[in-house]
Amino acid sequence: MRRRKKRIRANRLKEVIALTAAVAVVTIIIIAVSYNLDNIPTKLRAEVNEIEEIPIITDFILENTQGRPGHLRKIKYIVIHETGNRGRNANAASHNNYLHTEADNQQKSWHYTVDDHEIYYHIPDNEIAFHAGDGLSKDGGNLNGIGIEMCVNPENDYELTLQNTAKLAAMLLEAYDLDIRDVKKHEDFSGKNCPEILLKEGRWDEFVEMVKLEHSE
Ligand SMILES: [Zn+2]
Repeated sequence: MRRRKKRIRANRLKEVIALTAAVAVVTIIIIAVSYNLDNIPTKLRAEVNEIEEIPIITDFILENTQGRPGHLRKIKYIVIHETGNRGRNANAASHNNYLHTEADNQQKSWHYTVDDHEIYYHIPDNEIAFHAGDGLSKDGGNLNGIGIEMCVNPENDYELTLQNTAKLAAMLLEAYDLDIRDVKKHEDFSGKNCPEILLKEGRWDEFVEMVKLEHSE
């Protein structure tokens, strides 16, 4: 009688141990999977050559340079800037040249430059670039954002540039399944007064509405 009880107790102990081990294994698997899912870099979108007849010229700067270290990351934001460059001909093509020339001289880079007639694509969307002035902080603009520079050179039509940028931002929201709230200004990350004209004229909300409109079309 006593022996039987012992045997039952021993069996029950084995069951408890087996169950505990199973729960532990499942917990570890769940943690590992969710951790990895959270850290998987965003897959790059399909390439496009234009958005509604505005050409997108892909001309990636050299990899493994200061401007383009090639680190893949998750895309969480679209970060809007203005070049602040009011020199003549400081258009998208000239900023593309600048990035190519300076790629290995400075840790300063971004993904797109937009002017009134074309868009240059300098760095793949799913790689980090250095435009938000916040180093590599965890939820920062450099680590998680696609940087877009809008041209402000004098012969450039700023209103058309805004329209083209809104179209690009809407395309990126769609491609990476982002929300309109993920459209940020440089100022949100480092406090820099950028995009300068848009902020000075109090038109940020208007710009976000433009993106929203393009996004819903
Ligand atoms: Zn900026």
